[in-house]
Amino acid sequence: MKYALVTGGSRGIGRAVCLSLARMGYHVIVNYRSGKESAEETLNMINNEGSSGELLPFDVSNREEVKQALSSWKEKHPEGYIEVLVNNAGIRQDALLVWMKPEEWDKVISTNLGSFYNVTQALIQDMLIKKCGRIVNMVSLSGLKGLPGQANYSAAKGGVIAATKALAQEVGRKGVTVNAVAPGYIRTDMTKDLDEKQLKNLIPMNRFGTPEEVASVVAFLASEKSSYISGQVISVNGGLYT
Ligand code: NDP
Repeated sequence: MKYALVTGGSRGIGRAVCLSLARMGYHVIVNYRSGKESAEETLNMINNEGSSGELLPFDVSNREEVKQALSSWKEKHPEGYIEVLVNNAGIRQDALLVWMKPEEWDKVISTNLGSFYNVTQALIQDMLIKKCGRIVNMVSLSGLKGLPGQANYSAAKGGVIAATKALAQEVGRKGVTVNAVAPGYIRTDMTKDLDEKQLKNLIPMNRFGTPEEVASVVAFLASEKSSYISGQVISVNGGLYT
């Protein structure tokens, strides 16, 4: 059995990624924090594809919780190891820096950036031992160019981009690749408060993207076809200049 873990796999981009990996033959471990119903829906969709999966709830920003959840998963699967890790879970809490509350800074940094350390550190050793692994980090246009009102989110995603490049150099010799995917505006719960009609005028392709359009790039980076690509950030943003 080949295992893939998708953090924040219960809805949005993460759900589409889960389905793409399931179609590639992975047993997909669907992580979420609190939305059990959506996570169960994702699992049903995986099963309807004729594939298998399981739910593994934990808060990616909570180091102890991540450690416990992943070590008990490993105890239950002594023969298996997680070959594909998609660090997808993320949140935004926008505010101009002048008004940004300390908890808005901390929460966004720990969920989007701290999570990269918490989850990746728990799984990387097994990938190195097996000399095979794929890590795909979900970043953002905001982490590449910085967006006003998102100093916390831009800092977190920019941090993950730098960590992607650093880790890729640490583990390349061991057959592990580390890449990032940077979506622009994608139609999910995260962007439902945005004015698509107005914002689409900024996008050369004149529309928001779909979760599936992001998932197909993640699937490529998780596959054998991307075996000589590492340390890269691939934008999926309808042609927005970055
Ligand atoms: P959604 O808000 O639709 O989904 C977020 C997912 O992350 C949910 O499954 C949620 O689970 C999970 N999640 C949030 N916080 C935690 C946590 N602390 N621990 C575990 N799981 C958590 O977001 P999108 O699908 O839009 O975004 C997915 C990723 O893509 C994010 O990293 C986001 O920053 C990035 N992105 C999105 C863009 C967009 O336009 N949509 C653009 C650029 C980047 P639960 O419901 O249980 O909390």
